[in-house]
Amino acid sequence: MSRVYNFSAGPAVLPEEVLKEAAAEMLDYRGTGMSVMEMSHRSKAFEEIIGQAETDLRDLLQIPDNYRVLFLQGGASLQFSMVPMNLMKNRKADYIVTGQWAKKAFKEAQKYGEARAVASSEDKTFSYIPDCSDLPIAEDADYVYICENNTIYGTKFWKLPDTKGKPLVADVSSCFLSEPADVSRYGVMYGGVQKNIGPAGVVIVIIREDLITEDVLPGTPTMCQYKIHADAKSLYNTPPAYGIYICGKVFQWLKGRGGLAAMKEYNVKKAKILYDFLDASRLFKGTVVKEDRSIMNVPFVTGDADLDAQFVKEAAAAGFVNLKGHRTVGGMRASIYNAMPIEGVEKLVQFMEKFEEAHQA
Ligand SMILES: *Cc1c(COP(=O)(O)O)cnc(C)c1O
Repeated sequence: MSRVYNFSAGPAVLPEEVLKEAAAEMLDYRGTGMSVMEMSHRSKAFEEIIGQAETDLRDLLQIPDNYRVLFLQGGASLQFSMVPMNLMKNRKADYIVTGQWAKKAFKEAQKYGEARAVASSEDKTFSYIPDCSDLPIAEDADYVYICENNTIYGTKFWKLPDTKGKPLVADVSSCFLSEPADVSRYGVMYGGVQKNIGPAGVVIVIIREDLITEDVLPGTPTMCQYKIHADAKSLYNTPPAYGIYICGKVFQWLKGRGGLAAMKEYNVKKAKILYDFLDASRLFKGTVVKEDRSIMNVPFVTGDADLDAQFVKEAAAAGFVNLKGHRTVGGMRASIYNAMPIEGVEKLVQFMEKFEEAHQA
């Protein structure tokens, strides 16, 4: 068996300990004589799995009692629709457009009401986070929307916007559980788990109770109503059971690692190794303004598309895979989520040093 260093943006690397545990339980989950994939979602064993997962997630993020945790399907992308369908009571929402995912969410919301872009960083290819300290938020806006960590461009909101009292809705897909967060500052926090938490197919929605109502836009499908899922404790229909089980194992792993404060420390350390190298390199350079850099997704370029391609190819041959930048931006991107060990980043930097030596002008 040989594992690579997987820098994919998602689906992404998972902790080896979690994969081994899941493998050991594959044929017989704790004396049930079956895999978690094969069991009823109404069984006692699965009820325990989903219950423990929620308890551990609440623990990790210190989620206040007036927030509900929902394990849903449809990926982060379905939330682009569910958010407006459930929250746009006045049919008005303000979006901060900091990348492709935010833009997709913004476009989707326009189907349901007046979605306005109150700030954007598109003028400089989304390489920074706009000043959000005094935005023209509408008096009757139902919410203010951000994508907190921009997976494709590698920027992060290190300071949340001033929403002027409106609920903040945040797509946290690529920074979920990478650091502690003050959930009480959000109306809704949601993320597809395939970036930093588990297998594709699960999206976790953390939502303040008063935002869960029957008063949704006309025609909203039953499956798209937060209240339906909240009332049924995420078991309205068959949930992505195996995915939830793996998420639960990752929550346990995170607790074993000391929780989110310890994780943040580790992630900052990892990212610093890579950024310090990029800042000193004569060949490679980062593409994002320093103060807005993500510690999860690190895009970089050589400035020469052919050389970029050569780097990606040689890196893959050396066991550093999925370093190609998003198809819409080119260059390289190293995603260094929670489960990427620090050795992976150290060895990548060593490889980059050698490549630089060989290709310097
Ligand atoms: C990957 C990603 C998405 C899309 O997720 P799906 O689960 O494929 O719909 C949305 N937002 C962010 C920030 C992402 O990183």
